[in-house]
Amino acid sequence: MMEHDEVLELLPAYVDQELSVSETIQIERHLNNCIECQQDYVQQSQLSAQLKAPAFRFEAPAGLAQRINEALPRAVLPGAVLPEAVLPEAVLPIAALPEAALPKKQSNLSARTSRWSHLVEKSGWRFDRFHLGALMATLLAVLWSIGIFLSVPNDQDRLTDEVIANHVRSLQVDHLSDVVSTDRHTVKPWFNGKLNFSPPVIELAPQGFPLIGGRLDYVNGHPVAALIYRRQLHPINLYVWPTGSHNTSSSILTRQGYQVAHWTSGDMTYWAVSDVAAEDLTTFESLLRQQIKEVLH
Ligand SMILES: [Zn+2]
Repeated sequence: MMEHDEVLELLPAYVDQELSVSETIQIERHLNNCIECQQDYVQQSQLSAQLKAPAFRFEAPAGLAQRINEALPRAVLPGAVLPEAVLPEAVLPIAALPEAALPKKQSNLSARTSRWSHLVEKSGWRFDRFHLGALMATLLAVLWSIGIFLSVPNDQDRLTDEVIANHVRSLQVDHLSDVVSTDRHTVKPWFNGKLNFSPPVIELAPQGFPLIGGRLDYVNGHPVAALIYRRQLHPINLYVWPTGSHNTSSSILTRQGYQVAHWTSGDMTYWAVSDVAAEDLTTFESLLRQQIKEVLH
């Protein structure tokens, strides 16, 4: 059995899902019984979610990869002449340029470059266009990799991971519902004053998806409504928050054994997560969409 101090020490790695299965199980066991660790865990998860917020991400400018690709030399052979655009004058061997061709404001830089090229020549390197081309190609390849690195994972991937983690957490700490009720006239008003929006709450018990309750949760850097339904013994978490984007059709995907459905309609974005069969989640989603539309019109 893992000690409290050890769990506290491992929590950051647990939040980042970096631990082994056996460590994860031991931490989860401890979390079930330790309020202090639970609080620490919630804080760290929220911080981790905030750090993943769009404000902290840098998107590579559109067309960067294409520009780099175009600028990369195709096959550079010794003595081959690269397009001038790839080689700025300031880094060409100064001796190759007539003095008058150098802009005055670059004279300091030119002098430094000249000294440097002199040193390079002394060291026995051939400081020519081939080496410059190879250097440039390496540099551009590195920039290109950074561009690719920064562009993944995209928002959709990140949110999918986040809602799954959230779903799992709600089951782990046995904190599925803040308000336990099968009556939407109890669940919906419960969110009043807790969120700055009112989520649509639909009862689907006759269709085999009874409403269990609701709770406040935290997704994508904001407080959101979580509505809990059940399909037989499988809990379904439905996360709802307002969105400015247009209606989107649904996408269902399977990840880590969970089904995730995501769609946007009527100013709200919806993420449903469960371990039910994919067809069940599709049915759940279409019933919800249909009834929400009826309620709103
Ligand atoms: Zn503890």
